[in-house]
Amino acid sequence: MPALRVISLGAGVQSTAMALMAAHGEIGPMPDCAIFADTGWEPRAVYRHLEWLRSGALPFPVRTVSNGDIRMSLTSDKPGRYAAVPFFLRFGNGEKGMARRQCTHEYKLKPLWWAYRELLGKGRKQRIEKGAVEVWIGISTDEAMRMKPAHATWMVNRWPLIERRMSRWDCLQWLRRHGYPEPPKSSCIGCPFHNDKHWRDMRDNQPDEWADAVYVDAMIRSGGTQFNAKIRGEQFMHASLEPLDQVDLSTAEDHGQLNLFNNECEGMCGV
Ligand code: SF4
Repeated sequence: MPALRVISLGAGVQSTAMALMAAHGEIGPMPDCAIFADTGWEPRAVYRHLEWLRSGALPFPVRTVSNGDIRMSLTSDKPGRYAAVPFFLRFGNGEKGMARRQCTHEYKLKPLWWAYRELLGKGRKQRIEKGAVEVWIGISTDEAMRMKPAHATWMVNRWPLIERRMSRWDCLQWLRRHGYPEPPKSSCIGCPFHNDKHWRDMRDNQPDEWADAVYVDAMIRSGGTQFNAKIRGEQFMHASLEPLDQVDLSTAEDHGQLNLFNNECEGMCGV
């Protein structure tokens, strides 16, 4: 028996459906809590959705943990902790590339691991018994390739949606059937994994978030921030290697922007 059973809450469709299914007794045993790792740069709709989950929708606590503010680290001139975001790169010789992805590990995984330790009453270096924490991860059948074993023996990952053979669409149907609102797309405002539809929605419906993404997109090229100093090449949020506000998002088709995860960054995406 694990000493702790937690939901790794990305606050998007799959993890929300999973948490609510637990609340309905459809997945068990009941988790002790759900934990959301906040990068500090989520859209407002995600924070509202978290508030809603906290306000009685779930019978267990919804905690938020954080290991800093990713936007701040991207725009700050002060030396400090640095985690690369997988922005698209153009090198001096014209070649293209992609920066390393350290952000998920730094802002999503680490604070979750620390929170599990804290809930067990263990320090950051203390030994923990094998299998002490069962972590529920909201991966659906259409993303099964993202399933990975836990990084340490004291954690055991579990994928309840896979156990129930549920796809993302099944999760949406389940939420609709039970009269729940559709969860927003959960990921950093300036995440380079957004596809064109996501950028278009942001530009047309959340102009202040779009303006912020455009601002930070310019910042990651302008040099001067401690972040830029460590990156070789020019960085772009969009795969077209154009400034975000100059990308042609008018067509219905995507530019082939990567979409490695369904708008959630719960720590499984390629780390
Ligand atoms: S949502 Fe994107 S930018 Fe944010 S931590 Fe995850 S991979 Fe990095």
